[in-house]
Amino acid sequence: MSIASNIAEIRKNIPKHVQLVCVSKFHSNDDIMQAYNVGERVFGESKVQEMCAKYESLPKDIKWHFIGHLQSNKVKYIVPFVDLIHGVDSIKLLAEIEKQAAKIGRKQQCLLQIHIAKEDTKFGFSVDEILNSFKDEGFQKLQYAEIVGVMGMATFSNDTDLVRSEFDLLKAVFEQLKTECFANNERFHIVSMGMSDDYQLAIAQGSTMVRIGSSIFGVRNY
Ligand SMILES: *Cc1c(COP(=O)(O)O)cnc(C)c1O
Repeated sequence: MSIASNIAEIRKNIPKHVQLVCVSKFHSNDDIMQAYNVGERVFGESKVQEMCAKYESLPKDIKWHFIGHLQSNKVKYIVPFVDLIHGVDSIKLLAEIEKQAAKIGRKQQCLLQIHIAKEDTKFGFSVDEILNSFKDEGFQKLQYAEIVGVMGMATFSNDTDLVRSEFDLLKAVFEQLKTECFANNERFHIVSMGMSDDYQLAIAQGSTMVRIGSSIFGVRNY
């Protein structure tokens, strides 16, 4: 199977309103260009240094999404060019994004990462934490960090009922935030959930953005 044919297969399963993020972490520029040449423009990376190097050497109409765990001290390296930061998992990180984006006068779109999985290894705000944080003044005063939705990862499991219930939870949190904290603002519109093994389930539960790596590019060599 080639990267182009993998993408063609995946496109058959993705409705028009769902954005595909091609997760290219640990894959070469050549691999990325194979996806680019069949029309893909949105790529996801999880390491700051790797994403910056790829940004430098690849076409400038690529939209780079940062999907990994972002350390506050590295925000400044990506804010000049990153299209969307998926994994905002603390108030501290959000404040740093606000600060760095303000410095260069650039709006920075980001997603709140919500902890929905059973495993405690995955980062993110708890549901209670996020609903409470919104009463926080710091949140209300953001001018450059623009929160446009939520992101989450389900438990790594074959138990489809469990995975479905976690996606359901993320969708419900999204709806609650949209009405209670974002006054139904249209710009709060993204539900980033679903990876190679579970994206069809995620779409069925209301995902608007899927992050797919290995089903496109094959296994990663870490
Ligand atoms: C690596 C990664 C993906 C892609 O995973 P695949 O199983 O290879 O599709 C999606 N989301 C996040 C946050 C990741 O780190």
